[in-house]
Amino acid sequence: MTDVDLVITASRLVTPKGPAPLTGDRLRDLRVVGDALVAVDDGVIVDAGERDAIERRYGALARLDLPGQAIVPGFVDPHTHALFVGSRADEVVLRQEGRSYMEVLTAGGGILRTVRAVRAASDGELIMETLERLDRMLAHGTTTAEVKTGYYLQPEGELRLLEVIGSLDHPVDIVPTFMGAHAVPPEFEGNAPGYIDSLLGVIPRAAAMASFCDVFCEAGAFDLEQSRRVLEAARSVGMGLKVHADEIEPLGGAGLAAELRARSAEHLLAASEEDLKAMAREGVVAVLLPATSYVLMKGRYADARRMIELGLPVALATDLNPNCWCESMQTVISLAVYKMRMHPDEALAAATLNAAHAIDMADDVGSIEVGKRADIVAIDAPDHFHIPYRLGGNIVTHVIKGGDIVVDRRMAPCF
Ligand SMILES: [Zn+2]
Repeated sequence: MTDVDLVITASRLVTPKGPAPLTGDRLRDLRVVGDALVAVDDGVIVDAGERDAIERRYGALARLDLPGQAIVPGFVDPHTHALFVGSRADEVVLRQEGRSYMEVLTAGGGILRTVRAVRAASDGELIMETLERLDRMLAHGTTTAEVKTGYYLQPEGELRLLEVIGSLDHPVDIVPTFMGAHAVPPEFEGNAPGYIDSLLGVIPRAAAMASFCDVFCEAGAFDLEQSRRVLEAARSVGMGLKVHADEIEPLGGAGLAAELRARSAEHLLAASEEDLKAMAREGVVAVLLPATSYVLMKGRYADARRMIELGLPVALATDLNPNCWCESMQTVISLAVYKMRMHPDEALAAATLNAAHAIDMADDVGSIEVGKRADIVAIDAPDHFHIPYRLGGNIVTHVIKGGDIVVDRRMAPCF
């Protein structure tokens, strides 16, 4: 018998199976084990299987028994703008009145409003508000998250935001992304190329702090050529690439992501079939953000079914930002199932293993498999179908992060 730090038992274990990324039918090929046991030592999964078959092998310093419950991998949120201050709750009504994202932006609202707030904030304020969001993300089962800069829009200020991200001390593992090219700042109105010039100078320093570089390639933000300049500079200093591509207009950002072999392209509502095929050929992850579609109230969602058919590795993310304040991957999974017709199996795989692949973390997290970090979520339900089904709530009862039980909501009062 081997002594391990923690043994978890549950009525069902549901996990995607590596290697990542999962495409086509593999997205639905989950491992499901009834009456399961997971053995964890030193923060790492050392065994996972049928309880009857493996229980006698392990003595445990701690046990977590979850009768009647299912366990799934910790959710990975591969696209967030979680570092900001303030809110833009009042803009919901503007959107109801039919004003577009770009109209709100040109009227001085939208992202530029958040930029003013972030520039005026101290590091302490930025850290405090972001940590509160990370707490809620964790409570909803997110154990790894990507966080982008992009609300300072000055080269040095954007580096400062990377430093702030690096200083966040939180159980959620954070993958930092440099997104200086998130919007054209007021100082460079009408001169996007000039802003890009100024950003290029700090990209080598950004590379020391960020894993990825992202660009908002969209009409009214940065065109293909400007996006290419930023991305090529980032690639030359070893950063991974991401592109906010073809969200509103078919500019060709998805094609650019394929050409530059970006790790992922995001949104993709307006991407051409040809560009999607190019992404599939190059293995570029399609990171879909249905919560953004939901809050924009246009009724338009990315064509997840077609992307899966074309063999694209599809991942899901919240896009958490002041325009789309969604901290819950459970909500995103619901929207993926109900609005994009993803099968609940596909949605779970897209929110865990493929999401981890989208931020180059799939060797460590995203599935309950031997050798991976013990990032595990227990839900108050017998199977993962309840995650999309139980709309708008939080059915996560426990979050295990690197083998530590960091959330236990069983004892919390339920109203
Ligand atoms: Zn985004």
